[in-house]
Amino acid sequence: MKNVRKNFCTHFLAQLITPCGSRLLSWKDLRFLKRVSNKGSVPAWFNYLFNLIVILNSLSFFILQQFRIPSSHTVASISFIDISRNYWFNPQWAISFNRNTNSFLVGRVITTYPAPRNEALISHWIASSVDDLLSEFTACQGCASAIPRSSTSKTLIKRCPSEGCFSYVLLLSLIRYPTKPRTYIHADTRSVSLSASLGYAKSLLLFHLFAPVRLPPTNELVLRISDIQLPSSVFTLYIDGSFLSPPSRPASSMAYAWTAIDSDGFILESHYNIISSIFPSALRSEVFALLHGLDSLPRNSKITVATDCAQLLSLWSLYVDAPFIFRMLKEFNHLLWSSIRTIMLQKNLDVTLIKVPAHADDPLNNHVDALAKAAHTDSHLSSCPPSELMAPCILQFNSLPVDMNIRKFIRDIFDAKSLLTLAVLPRFNSYSSISDIDWACTKFCLNNNKQFASHRNGRSEFCGFRIKLLLDMLPTLTTLQRQKPHLYNPSWLCPQCNSFPETLDHLWTCPYILPEFSPLQTFKTLLLALQTTYLDHFLSASSLMPLPDSFAAEFMALNCWDCDPPSISCLRLTRGLIPISLTEFLGVYFSSPTIWSILDTPLHDFHFDLYVQIWLCRSIFFHHWELAQGITKKMKSSALGPSSILRPSSNIPLDSSTPSLATASLDSWVSWVSSTIIRGGSWISHLDFWHRLTVQPLLKTSFW
Ligand SMILES: [Zn+2]
Ligand SMILES: [Zn+2]
Repeated sequence: MKNVRKNFCTHFLAQLITPCGSRLLSWKDLRFLKRVSNKGSVPAWFNYLFNLIVILNSLSFFILQQFRIPSSHTVASISFIDISRNYWFNPQWAISFNRNTNSFLVGRVITTYPAPRNEALISHWIASSVDDLLSEFTACQGCASAIPRSSTSKTLIKRCPSEGCFSYVLLLSLIRYPTKPRTYIHADTRSVSLSASLGYAKSLLLFHLFAPVRLPPTNELVLRISDIQLPSSVFTLYIDGSFLSPPSRPASSMAYAWTAIDSDGFILESHYNIISSIFPSALRSEVFALLHGLDSLPRNSKITVATDCAQLLSLWSLYVDAPFIFRMLKEFNHLLWSSIRTIMLQKNLDVTLIKVPAHADDPLNNHVDALAKAAHTDSHLSSCPPSELMAPCILQFNSLPVDMNIRKFIRDIFDAKSLLTLAVLPRFNSYSSISDIDWACTKFCLNNNKQFASHRNGRSEFCGFRIKLLLDMLPTLTTLQRQKPHLYNPSWLCPQCNSFPETLDHLWTCPYILPEFSPLQTFKTLLLALQTTYLDHFLSASSLMPLPDSFAAEFMALNCWDCDPPSISCLRLTRGLIPISLTEFLGVYFSSPTIWSILDTPLHDFHFDLYVQIWLCRSIFFHHWELAQGITKKMKSSALGPSSILRPSSNIPLDSSTPSLATASLDSWVSWVSSTIIRGGSWISHLDFWHRLTVQPLLKTSFW
């Protein structure tokens, strides 16, 4: 599962398209640009994307209008001609655009002439094919664009035996053609194969020549966040945000305020409001105050914005007062920052941010501070709908904007879905009340890093044991009897005690006694050791309140420690399913992170002891017993019994005595993730589905 997630590498569309934003890059170009893995064939997701966004039958991979990205948000790494290099030993390939003939010119740089000439002499190369996804070129032997041979240095030309057509190009309109460092000419065929496609090189050049010129918005119907229009006499804006969160109030609340001052220090207008709860944080309320204030300004304003939030200043210089960088998309509130960029551009604003000390005697700062705080309690206010963001592209989840690191967001979705998948597995439904298990803690203990570290150290067998133990997939006799009834007679009992069916739980409760091997005795000893270790850890951990004298006695009285005979919650804990009775008892005294981190490692060690002292011993015994029954390894692997073609999910016996079973609905993860957006924090804290369990028909399909 972890591997799937690790390989669940996400790309932004902007990374996969040409710098001009209108064409999908070919897989070959993406590889050359190192934006995708250099190994393997074209993956299915790329073909899917191709069919989704590329215009049908477009030879040059032009993409549908709705997927085009403005060139202000695309990736373009342009290299210019390095005039300090020796062109003979370090050939530089270049592309330029002739504005008179409206044609591209690809060539090799022969030499450059520094200022004031600022020109390069390049040889002319012609694409071998009209398909600009290719990158094969042959040397032009003379054409209309060529300069007379007499006007160039004969010594230079002599050093270019393959080339026959030369021209002077302004350095300003010339960029490097992206190719491997040493791309040489095949002298016999007078041809060269450059790394990137001609289409990509053209797009890069067009971006360089035309994209930096920002055109004024053609559409006058501009979206607005603020419905206030300040007069042009506004000189300074004081802004502030306010954030209240539990426990001071039931749900977190964000508000903002600004006050506009003219050059004489008179207040022109003040405004305050609450903000709809999306990724609530103090910083978000500050950023929103800035956004709303700027959107209230008239065009071409030159103003100073005063804030007491130092972080706002540093983010401003990083994301607004600078060219667009991709790192912004990894920030929380990137949609707000993006909207601020849009407003700055559309209104042609000249803004300087200054820092004023917080809670000092700046009366205007105290004024906006008080306004923002007052907004929380003003019942007449209604927040702006979140859809009024002005970012160029907005990813939505369940119609909520995803204003956080998108990769991390997708990872969260994956985690939420995998936990749900685990919880609705039919094998857990045979317990009549799965809500008695603390799933979040169970998943934490199973996924801890130590387990995966040990995996790398060659203890993968043990990792497999832990997972199979949790899922009841260990090859016990009852499992084998179900899977291969023609080899394992269904009437056979536990080979050790010959008194009970050998189920998973029987592994620990088998009454078989040998001087050196007694499963039940070993199990009791290990469980007692686990209990003692836990108790020691909790007694020395920092607790939320002083531990009462009765803590140790109450902890040891929990029914998950009852092992003679083992209680249901004891058997669950043994499998790695943390009983909710355990975490609820501990939750009175300790925070969840403390509980989880203490439960984690001793449980891992407990499982390792079970593995070595019970499972491995039992498996050696079992192997000899199988041989005695005439069951060989070959029979086990080759025999295709009548039942082995059945889907594994249908082999799982379901407790038919349980009339109806509670399960989480399969789309619970949507509400967990939505809840993360609205209330903030990790999705794992929003696992409220157990509290509103509904009785549903038993799920019979396996989602594993
Ligand atoms: Zn030519
Ligand atoms: Zn037994």
